Amino acid sequence: MSTTMEAIVITHFFGISAMAVSNKIKDKAIAKVSVHGGHSGQFCHHASDSLEQVIQAYISHGFSWVGITEHMAPSSDSTRYPDEQEDNLSAKFLNQRFRDYFAQCKMLKEKYRNQIEIFSAFETETYEGSEALIKQLVAELKPDYLVGSVHHVNGICIDYDEDHFQLALESCGGIIPLYARYLDAQYEMLQGLEPAVVGHFDLIRKFDPAYLESFKALEIWQRIERNLGFIADKNLILDFNLRGFDKTAEQYPSTPVLKTALALGIAVVPGDDSHGVNSVGRNYERGIELLTSLGVDTNWRKPALIQYDS
Ligand SMILES: [Zn+2]
Ligand SMILES: [Zn+2]
Repeated sequence: MSTTMEAIVITHFFGISAMAVSNKIKDKAIAKVSVHGGHSGQFCHHASDSLEQVIQAYISHGFSWVGITEHMAPSSDSTRYPDEQEDNLSAKFLNQRFRDYFAQCKMLKEKYRNQIEIFSAFETETYEGSEALIKQLVAELKPDYLVGSVHHVNGICIDYDEDHFQLALESCGGIIPLYARYLDAQYEMLQGLEPAVVGHFDLIRKFDPAYLESFKALEIWQRIERNLGFIADKNLILDFNLRGFDKTAEQYPSTPVLKTALALGIAVVPGDDSHGVNSVGRNYERGIELLTSLGVDTNWRKPALIQYDS
């Protein structure tokens, strides 16, 4: 085989080089997009900056389109995040603020429409009773789409900190039952909502450094395949979550899950899961290098928008 042929074959099988990826992003041959992010200190207690500052950051980073996907309001005081409880932000206040978020997001979408395409969306919670609240919020606020996420197992926040993760683990009686409950809750959420985007698919591994071992348990891997099968059947988008690089060893979903998703033909689209100006577009090149090395189509699919009668 000639050197040229070898180079072509290598390029074909291993994608383009890191340098080429960086240039393609700069030249806009690969668009900058985010299906999940835009959390802001104005509307989220664990984020920073105003929503307008976050949107201006997306514009200055050259993003083509972004879904702004703030966390939904809690159903009651008992389903608030731990920091909201500590700081006495009532569910009533958080629900009002969530409505203000939608008004502000829709205003900014219009204000900046010539510079960036914005979708006003939200990220779900999954706990007892959350589905009814989500359906009520969708009917009332008419988001463009949903990011379907699970942050709770047995009502305990699994990604908040190590202590809460341990509490959730003890409530399930071990790491394997914890993963199984998480994946079953995700499956129920997928069936109930069919969200256009599935958020950080394997967030459950955040505080489990031995997650590759955990995945090997048959009852876990079968559940992962079942959930991915549903995502493939319904043609939902998988959030290629760049925040995983900051919080764990790799992106969400981790590489074994990602490869399985790609083999099923699932569309994978970047989400920076930004929580303030500083995390807008963070890890973008690193993420795209991985995706192109796996042969992923970088003509990013946009989320299917919810259709409303009026
Ligand atoms: Zn958040
Ligand atoms: Zn999330």
